[in-house]
Amino acid sequence: MRNRLKSPRVFVPLGLLLLLGLYPLVPDSQYEQSVLITCLLFAIMASGWNLISGMAGYVSLGHSVYLGIGMYTGAIAATRWGWDPFYLAPLGALVAGVVALLIGLVVLRTRAHAFVIITIAVLLSFQLLSANLKQFTGGTEGLTLGAPGWPEEWGNTPYFYMFYAILLLTLALAAYLMSSRLGAGLVAIRNDEGKAASIGVNTTVYKTIANVLSALPFGAAGVIYGQYLSFVNPSGAFSILTSVYLVLAALVGGRGTLWGPVLGGFIVALANEGATVAAGGVSARVLIMGLVLVLTVMFLPAGLLPTLTGLMTRRRASRSTVKYIDQAAIARHDSHLDITSLISRGAGQRDTGTAVLEVRDVVKRFGGVRAVDGVSLTVERGSITGLIGPNGSGKTTLFNCLTGTVRPDKGTVLLDGEDVTSDKVWTRAHGGLGRTFQVTRLFRSMTVLDNLVAPLERTSARQMVAGRYSGEEVDRARDILGFMGLQDFEKQNAAALSFGQQKLVELAQVLMLRPSVVLLDEPASGINPTLIEKLTKVIRQLNEAGTTVLIVEHNIPLVLGLCDTVHVLAGGKILTSGTPDVIRNDPLVIEAYLGPDHLLEAPRG
Ligand code: ADP
Ligand code: MG
Repeated sequence: MRNRLKSPRVFVPLGLLLLLGLYPLVPDSQYEQSVLITCLLFAIMASGWNLISGMAGYVSLGHSVYLGIGMYTGAIAATRWGWDPFYLAPLGALVAGVVALLIGLVVLRTRAHAFVIITIAVLLSFQLLSANLKQFTGGTEGLTLGAPGWPEEWGNTPYFYMFYAILLLTLALAAYLMSSRLGAGLVAIRNDEGKAASIGVNTTVYKTIANVLSALPFGAAGVIYGQYLSFVNPSGAFSILTSVYLVLAALVGGRGTLWGPVLGGFIVALANEGATVAAGGVSARVLIMGLVLVLTVMFLPAGLLPTLTGLMTRRRASRSTVKYIDQAAIARHDSHLDITSLISRGAGQRDTGTAVLEVRDVVKRFGGVRAVDGVSLTVERGSITGLIGPNGSGKTTLFNCLTGTVRPDKGTVLLDGEDVTSDKVWTRAHGGLGRTFQVTRLFRSMTVLDNLVAPLERTSARQMVAGRYSGEEVDRARDILGFMGLQDFEKQNAAALSFGQQKLVELAQVLMLRPSVVLLDEPASGINPTLIEKLTKVIRQLNEAGTTVLIVEHNIPLVLGLCDTVHVLAGGKILTSGTPDVIRNDPLVIEAYLGPDHLLEAPRG
């Protein structure tokens, strides 16, 4: 941590920002100060927006609604009780936060394009609302505010410092969020929301909190901004153009980073000022901004700051030698670590009955396709249970019904004897259900270690505010990587690993949940034979350590060699179940699944 403060990435922008705080000391700088105030405002808004849209990837095009709410809160309160920014700015933040909570509960249910559209709709409805609630807002004529209480010769300097203070607070909040487990969860959501849920991230709570936090700077800044303009009206307070500009600022600078939105805020505000001075009129400004937006998206999709730092680190990386990772070494690796203590839930472990998972008559249709057609099966505690069947027979869909990704049309799912059919994905993960995917779904923008500390065994406020690398999780993550022979991968980007390595890392990730049962979806498909051997060994070791395994796999020798019980699925129905010996010789299985070719392939003599 101490080293990070010495890094140029932190002290250069921080130093520049502190220098900026001295600017009002420059004599006769009223015009420049007013330009800088706009820069600060855009930096605040872009940084606030970044908390939900940059970190969690929910792109809001209506976030200036919270600025407008702050402006009206300040204006209404000021006209009634007089102006005191010390109380009103926090009040603005509070009101914006409460509104963001309510709006978030609705709009965060949508994703992608639908989310973008609905945020614009919210902004426009607030414009309409403020125009119609005449008794509070003065309608379309708006509210006019008196001059502030300080001596005239101070000019706008107090405003400058108020915005400056809000920006510093916003950045402190953003920096804290980025280093916390809450922030790690948000980045996980941006990478892959479904996957985040499957490792125990309560995505609803996380997104809602991020949305509220992102609104706070807007609300506080809105109060000050309304007073600064000394006039608040519906089209000014709830302006779509402000939203577009602030999104542009975050995109230009680099969303998802701490300093990118600040840089972008300054660039956009200065460009806007330059365009106004040079070309006058709104239309010229909008044209220039549109051009900036198009060029950014075309040439700097990640934004200015990430592109620059990317260039720097690439140069550094090309100078240092990249560590060669020996595939066979992973396979040979034998750990003496005691995996039981790493993945056991200890005394609190529930041990109710013999079935970890029980599926009763589950049906799932997709249009006319009955993907799962009345499946009932039991996964005995401590077993390795196999599920085989041709492609399209419903294996993955059944897994999705078990984890909660897909809601079955009919039937029940019991985990440890409890009906979890209507439980959320993360609730089941907390309850001890772990799952890997047919095509791995690691968080590609994160390192292997970050991927391993992302899983959450429960949703708790204490865990969210804790640092990303604090607590016992990091040690346990390293031990589990060590157990799997993956200790050298810790700092690698997940996207840089081979498919087989990713499969092992994904299994390691799921073990962080201390699962009582793991569902493995085709763990051996598409991976190197030496890694298959390693995988088989790991599955055995996990099972000996008390983890129940349900495995879908096309590698029949592997399944028959590993499993205690095998269920055969065909056309969404269980065809037959039994021990490997029974399955191997079942004529129905040979016909439906292994096919007549199987007989030709059988050893002769
Ligand atoms: P398996 O994993 O055994 O290969 P799946 O569970 O992936 O089989 O698919 C079972 C059937 O359900 C297939 O016919 C597939 O096309 C269909 N299916 C799976 N998921 C969806 C979906 N999200 N939408 C529509 N059809 C689906
Ligand atoms: Mg499948």
